[in-house]
Amino acid sequence: MPANKKLLFLPGDGIGPEVMRQVRRVIDWMDRKRKVTFDVTEGLVGGAAIDAHGTPLTDATLADALAADAVMLGAVGGPKWDNPSDYMKRPEAGLLRLRKELGLFANLRPATVFDALVDASTLKPEIIKGLDIMIVRELTGGVYFGEPRGIEDLPNGERRGVNTQVYTTSEIRRVASVAFELARKRSNKVHSMEKANVMESGLLWRQEVTKLHQEQYSDVTLEHMYADNGAMQLLKNPKQFDVIVTDNLFGDILSDEAAMMTGSLGMLPSASLGAADANGNRKALYEPVHGSAPDIAGKDLANPCATLLSFAMALRYSFNLDDDAKTLEKAVQNVLAGGMRTADIMAPGMARCSTTVMGDSILRELDKLSS
Ligand code: NAD
Repeated sequence: MPANKKLLFLPGDGIGPEVMRQVRRVIDWMDRKRKVTFDVTEGLVGGAAIDAHGTPLTDATLADALAADAVMLGAVGGPKWDNPSDYMKRPEAGLLRLRKELGLFANLRPATVFDALVDASTLKPEIIKGLDIMIVRELTGGVYFGEPRGIEDLPNGERRGVNTQVYTTSEIRRVASVAFELARKRSNKVHSMEKANVMESGLLWRQEVTKLHQEQYSDVTLEHMYADNGAMQLLKNPKQFDVIVTDNLFGDILSDEAAMMTGSLGMLPSASLGAADANGNRKALYEPVHGSAPDIAGKDLANPCATLLSFAMALRYSFNLDDDAKTLEKAVQNVLAGGMRTADIMAPGMARCSTTVMGDSILRELDKLSS
């Protein structure tokens, strides 16, 4: 277990502080019961940072993020900051700068269906019961960043919009290695998705993933799939997948598709990882997939599970505390199985509860599981 457990907390805006408070309670619980202590620093990001400092991420907070072993983020944004005079003063700009400066190139989005929420999905229970897949999306390259880009006026009076899909060997290899490493700790299977049939960048992707697999990961089962077929297969038979690795654009779409099979935004965690240092440690940011939900902010209504499950990912991927991650995930699962529901996942016959009561119930369950 690494001795240093420096965690930067960035609650952000809207429901961010409310859901992050529940993570704090779990950290305090771990300190008390498990004698696992985190060195937690808290900072501002997004609208909260704009209000306090005139910028969505100060250099000092960025320095804290770079010095931390992991960053836990709530959410940013809200109507108050929706129309900034300066584009760089959007709350999201703070998050984007954080991702860029930390070099977070691999976005991990699990799609897990808890038995208790099997009916929340729009898919048939037999298709998604027990689903547990991980999508690894390349986050810093590809068509969202490639040059040339822009909108230009043509001599004939038309306009032309251009974006460029571009990947290099090293960009492909580093994200594929994250996928292979993850697969080794799961069911040892990777599906790599691209469009090698119609895109040269996809062909290179396929060649480089194959080469890396032969060189370093031949113990892992590798299959290639065209991304459009992948989108269909995800709906038809999602349980055939373990880890899926894909580029930025396809990953954006496929991870949302996979996530929504689980039914609720309030349940979806994520992690973004950077390059490994000499000790194998990576810069990392953990955050729920949902936004700041201004419509319910400050009302103790938000579902804290996505953020708690993001913290479980931090325990697993940044702190090597796999057993604690499993215990926290099990506690969430058991509380849901017991019928406790925040409004977003409410179903007939279940007990509706607040953010705080959901947190109370998860802490009680943690007590039970660790006694
Ligand atoms: P949103 O995810 O904030 O909310 C969408 C809907 O889901 C809302 O009805 C909301 O009440 C509900 N919801 C979301 N999370 C929930 C939770 N934990 N518990 C219960 N209900 C939940 O998306 P939006 O409304 O499109 O955006 C609101 C603000 O959040 C915007 O300013 C947007 O830019 C920002 N945003 C931030 C992030 C981020 O910080 N990573 C991501 C998406 C959106």
